[in-house]
Amino acid sequence: MAEPRYKRVLLKVSGEALMGDRDYGLDTKVVKAIAQDVRGVRELGVEVCLVIGGGNIFRGVSAASVGMDRAQADGMGMLATVMNALAMQNALEGAGVETRVQSAITMASLAEPFIRRRAVRHMEKGRVVIFAAGTGNPFFTTDTAAALRAAEMGCDALLKGTQVDGIYSADPRKNPRAERYETLTYLDILSRDLAVMDAAAISLARENHLPIIVFNIHEPGAFTAVMKGEGKFTTVI
Ligand code: UDP
Repeated sequence: MAEPRYKRVLLKVSGEALMGDRDYGLDTKVVKAIAQDVRGVRELGVEVCLVIGGGNIFRGVSAASVGMDRAQADGMGMLATVMNALAMQNALEGAGVETRVQSAITMASLAEPFIRRRAVRHMEKGRVVIFAAGTGNPFFTTDTAAALRAAEMGCDALLKGTQVDGIYSADPRKNPRAERYETLTYLDILSRDLAVMDAAAISLARENHLPIIVFNIHEPGAFTAVMKGEGKFTTVI
């Protein structure tokens, strides 16, 4: 069996990914499938932490565009990520994977507070740490939270599970002539304004020499395959 390419990774799962074919909320089948894939990666011996988005439930910027105060709306968005994190914890524990949820907004009876050194210790013990509530600050995204936590946790790579198998010049689901990239630089993403992760997340990854690997989260076993250097993905370095 191929040796895993990384020792410790952070996987960012967007809220949209958890929706499956629905327009809103969670598809438990999809959450379970992702949990199985995370379990596969744990079985390779790779330490895993997760950042979960909230866009399937609430997006601050959308509410602000129809008149809500942005900081207030972002508070609701961060709460949405906590709901998703608890759903993912439930699915992972159901798959036999030990987990801890750490929230950037203190919610003592639901999750641990975010304590970096404690999170590191959990991972060393083989637990999957799920980071909820983004960065804990409005005007940020969970992509930025993912880059931040990956840097703080000393991860070797930041994985971004998307709806397609890598980064394309345009959305391949809308434009069949969209070109797929094998590797890109951080500056390529920023200068071509490719919709992979927001600029703050890309900059943070660049400053910390954190490779970003983009793959299709809906392909069964894709996360495990990527860890072995198999399957299709785009690497940003
Ligand atoms: N959010 C925030 N600060 C953060 C991370 C997230 O205020 O550090 C809020 C923001 O309102 C955002 C929502 O939480 O719209 C859900 O996160 P995001 O849009 O990043 O989720 P995804 O697109 O990954 O599902």
